[in-house]
Amino acid sequence: MARPGNKIIHAKMVLVGDMGTGKTSLVLRFVKGQFFQHQEPTIGAAFFTQVLSLPEATLKFDIWDTAGQERYHSLAPMYYRGAAAAIIVYDITSMDTFLRAKKWVEELKRQGNPNLVMALVANKRDLESDREVNIEEGEQFSEENGMFFIETSAKTALNLNELFYEMAKRLAKAT
Ligand code: GDP
Ligand code: MG
Repeated sequence: MARPGNKIIHAKMVLVGDMGTGKTSLVLRFVKGQFFQHQEPTIGAAFFTQVLSLPEATLKFDIWDTAGQERYHSLAPMYYRGAAAAIIVYDITSMDTFLRAKKWVEELKRQGNPNLVMALVANKRDLESDREVNIEEGEQFSEENGMFFIETSAKTALNLNELFYEMAKRLAKAT
């Protein structure tokens, strides 16, 4: 619910990252508060909305959860066009997905809007014993690129509020 007198910000947010990193699971946690052990693979793209209220603003998110973009050399323009925020997801148990996330960041910096608010998300933190990507690697790359960095688990809901509140705060500040 919008609070009286507080500004409303409509923000398009796009999720990118390798297949299986947990993009859809993160979004479903955010919009429905649920997690599915056997999440059906997304076909094409899925669209969701969610509202998040901060003291300083109410954010209305239009969320584009991409799929199948791995096949192309670049992200389809419909995803980054007009996007205010991007969440780039990798899986801490797969170095390949981290390397791919770096490529997406480069791509978004080239094609996305110049004030794009970006978060690098290291998901599947609950699978610590299978970790291939150290937290320092994610942190360092994020720092170099002015991105917010956080490790999450869509399974246990670890750090999900932190992620979406931080995105909202940064968007409120940038708008
Ligand atoms: P997407 O292709 O990036 O959208 O990934 P999905 O959301 O479809 O997730 C792929 C698989 O990983 C599914 O079986 C999910 O249940 C699982 N998954 C997603 N997030 C997590 C997580 O944080 N921890 C664990 N253990 N599994 C996860
Ligand atoms: Mg998906």
